[in-house]
Amino acid sequence: MKKKICFIATGGTIASRDMGSGLLPGMDAGQLLAAVPQLGEICRFEWVQLLQLDSSNLQPEHWRQIAEAILARCGIYDGFVISHGTDTMAYTGAALYYMLRNIPKPVVLTGSQLPMDQPGTDAAENLLTAFQAAASGRGGVYLAFGGHVFWGHTAKKLYTRSFRAFYSINGPEAGCVDSRTGQIVWQCREEQAGTLVPRLSLDDRVAVLKLVPGTSPELLRLLTDAGYRGIILEAFGAGGVPSDESSRSLLPMVDYAVSRGVILVCSTQCLYEGVHLERYEVGVRAMEHGVLSGGAATLEALTARLMLALGEAGEAEAAKRIFINQ
Ligand code: ASP
Repeated sequence: MKKKICFIATGGTIASRDMGSGLLPGMDAGQLLAAVPQLGEICRFEWVQLLQLDSSNLQPEHWRQIAEAILARCGIYDGFVISHGTDTMAYTGAALYYMLRNIPKPVVLTGSQLPMDQPGTDAAENLLTAFQAAASGRGGVYLAFGGHVFWGHTAKKLYTRSFRAFYSINGPEAGCVDSRTGQIVWQCREEQAGTLVPRLSLDDRVAVLKLVPGTSPELLRLLTDAGYRGIILEAFGAGGVPSDESSRSLLPMVDYAVSRGVILVCSTQCLYEGVHLERYEVGVRAMEHGVLSGGAATLEALTARLMLALGEAGEAEAAKRIFINQ
């Protein structure tokens, strides 16, 4: 018996048409599926039109809506495919990965660089890969794109137009489509470390401060005073945070933020190999003032982890523990 897959459509380029003022989602889930008749060879399916958004308009409350839609149907279907705009798909992938950790069914996000009804589109191929992954029986949250399958929390969009738009950052891909057979060759074992405990509480008071030479420490005060509870410092290299005796040292404002219960996490502007705060004095000092390391996680994953930790814990120490242990 073929697997039964639920297709949840949320918009994005894949469903877009040019409405005269730029691309805008306009095709519904049924129209997308009808455009790829080969899907019927892979599985049986039903669909839900959950959202119809350009993913730039997709917010943390939508992550929750998607997670709830999956959870409500988890007993009925063997897997899920979610069509989604590519621009924030890595954020949704990371969020669902942490919200639905240990989900026993495959949850696979996909989208495309060209709309389904445009000549030469990558939409049909991406849908086929995603449905194949969803029918694989391998539980977990994935993103299928450009002939590759990624874990939800390590994928990142690196290209705005190329069909091979996503890459896995600081971790292996989950699988790759064999160009001869058209089948996914899985490159890692299924990740099942316990039972699913859905996490649906998110606090979106998280900001990212990207440092440039000349950044005013006042920005950190402004974010703290504006009520942000988690701030990701996108620092230099291995985790360099300005910390000498000059007026541009961030440390006094790090102290200000930390004393008000803000969780500060250091990320890096380097794409690969992560943060190593212990390597340079500029990192060690930041750490001594309470800045946590974001390690090798992507900005997307750190954002989701911080929002979840803050959503689950009222006070900073408890939220920090949750953030670190994810
Ligand atoms: N702007 C679109 C979106 O993210 C881009 C895409 O889907 O490729 O919704």
